[in-house]
Amino acid sequence: MDFLRPTTWDEALAAKADQPDAVPIQGGTDVMVELNFDVRRPPALLDLNQVAELREWSTAGGLCRVGAGVPYTAVIEELGATLPGLAQAARTVGSPQIRNRGSVGGNLGAASPAGDSHPPLLAAGAVVEVESRGRGVRMIPAAEFYLGVKRSALEPDELIRAVHVPPATGPQYFSKVGTRNAMVIAVCSFALALHPRERRVGTGLGSAAPTPRRAIEAEQLLAAELDWDAPLDPALLRRFGDLCARAAAPIDDVRGTAAYRVHAIGVMARRTLTWAWNDHLEKRAA
Ligand SMILES: Cc1cc2nc3c(=O)[nH]c(=O)nc-3n(C[C@H](O)[C@H](O)[C@H](O)COP(=O)(O)OP(=O)(O)OC[C@H]3O[C@@H](n4cnc5c(N)ncnc54)[C@H](O)[C@@H]3O)c2cc1C
Repeated sequence: MDFLRPTTWDEALAAKADQPDAVPIQGGTDVMVELNFDVRRPPALLDLNQVAELREWSTAGGLCRVGAGVPYTAVIEELGATLPGLAQAARTVGSPQIRNRGSVGGNLGAASPAGDSHPPLLAAGAVVEVESRGRGVRMIPAAEFYLGVKRSALEPDELIRAVHVPPATGPQYFSKVGTRNAMVIAVCSFALALHPRERRVGTGLGSAAPTPRRAIEAEQLLAAELDWDAPLDPALLRRFGDLCARAAAPIDDVRGTAAYRVHAIGVMARRTLTWAWNDHLEKRAA
């Protein structure tokens, strides 16, 4: 197996163009598990750890640009105020060791329906920046990035460079059901982001369908009926939970049944909206 070690982004793109079957490796917390269990034996690994810019984040033009190699620990420690939904999700990933190595870009690269980054990226309206040597940069909305179980819109000659996330303008919450409190892949998860300026609520479902997805009808319900100056109407809250549950299309597997996941998505949707709404009203009253 070849081990390619570019030191710049251009070198990385050139290596991927020359050898599209080379498997990128950032933190290695997914890739090394697959190699160790012989799930795959790629002809080459493309180690991105020397490409320093991938581990950087910045804010410009009203967006937070998070390099594909930024580890969860940095998201938690440095971006908690700017991207609270993503930071909450990051806190639930694996263990400290996994959070030190594992990255948001790696989560996107793996495109597992259970990946914890995806629901908050969907709820916030994030856009994934990918690039190839031949075709240049493509900006792919998170909602169009996930194509199937562990399949994404990334082409074989492309690499993920960063993810662009609008900084929070309102409360954001992430909720995850697991079979224990830590080191657990989600049975299912849910993210919610209030966008008060646009009078809009974003959602993201995890581990509840072949891909992470938004609950679009539930978002439309709130856009049409939510009174941003009043306490939450219990009937509206119930309908929101029901529509989020209806957006799920889960399977039975070792972690949980489809019926349980549908139920849990409804509960998490109601809970996260209640938490976010309490924060919203508190902030208005202050
Ligand atoms: C013990 C353990 C616990 C875990 N717990 C969780 C959890 O709670 N929640 C969760 O979501 N995940 C969890 N994971 C999975 C894993 O940690 C995450 O998916 C993590 O985000 C992967 O990031 P990484 O940088 O390690 O990716 P890598 O393993 O380096 O790569 C993952 C995939 O992305 C591709 N890739 C990486 N970088 C790029 C790039 N720049 N461009 C294109 N493709 C790229 C790789 O080729 C590979 O297919 C766990 C893993 C382990 C081993």
